[in-house]
Amino acid sequence: VATDAGILDVAAAAEAFGPRELAVDPATFLHHGDRLLAPLRGLVEAADGPFLDGAPWDTPVQAPRKILCVGLNYRRHAEETGKSAPAEPVLFAKFPNALAPHGAVVDTAGLTQVDFEAELAVVIGRTGKRLREEEALDHVLGYAVANDVSERDLQKRSGQWLLGKTVDGFLPIGPYLVTRDEVPNPQALRIRGWRNDELRQDSDTADMIFSVREIVAYVSRTMTLSPGDVILTGTPEGVLTGDDDPDWIRAGDTYAIEIDGLGRLETRFA
Ligand code: ZN
Repeated sequence: VATDAGILDVAAAAEAFGPRELAVDPATFLHHGDRLLAPLRGLVEAADGPFLDGAPWDTPVQAPRKILCVGLNYRRHAEETGKSAPAEPVLFAKFPNALAPHGAVVDTAGLTQVDFEAELAVVIGRTGKRLREEEALDHVLGYAVANDVSERDLQKRSGQWLLGKTVDGFLPIGPYLVTRDEVPNPQALRIRGWRNDELRQDSDTADMIFSVREIVAYVSRTMTLSPGDVILTGTPEGVLTGDDDPDWIRAGDTYAIEIDGLGRLETRFA
């Protein structure tokens, strides 16, 4: 947990201060969902360490049971791809092989049309099925910055986008998971992305066609949502595939994404 004093080693602090149920690895914690948030808050207030020094970044989601993504969910992005706004959310999937932490180097060997997509990621904190929109946000544990890295040639080869979406390392996410109490309105967040020094994406989650609460409710009509599940909510305009003559990602490029209150996610391509 990121605190003003440093990064608290929760498992070690729980060994020292209790409760013991917090002395678990991050994947186990996330599968418990928001049930452990109250004891975690208590621990963070009580513990005075230990703090991690120079630890490597890991992904703020661990072993999710589902990674769902929404395509074409920003009005101006739908326009740049020449498509009309969809009548229902366009859902597709990525797999855990795609997860990569803040600061990751993503291997693009043999790939020709690598593109970036700055996105707001939603992490589920409570089991739910057939949720009403009014209760959907209660099932959210928190939010993170994500990059739905995409290879457009593979994406468009068949009717299924899957192949171009879930290449190893194609889901950088982080640096943090920010709990939902710190994000009062997920539809009022500025979202920006820079390729090297060039600002490519600059939008606001207010431009989403389907809001977070609508997406969570929609997915839960057919799928039980479980703690730790991840939903990517689509990208705003400014991706390379919207350009007339795209200058695809090259080895050595970086892409950095910032969303209000969620931090800055940096990825390098090799
Ligand atoms: Zn996307």
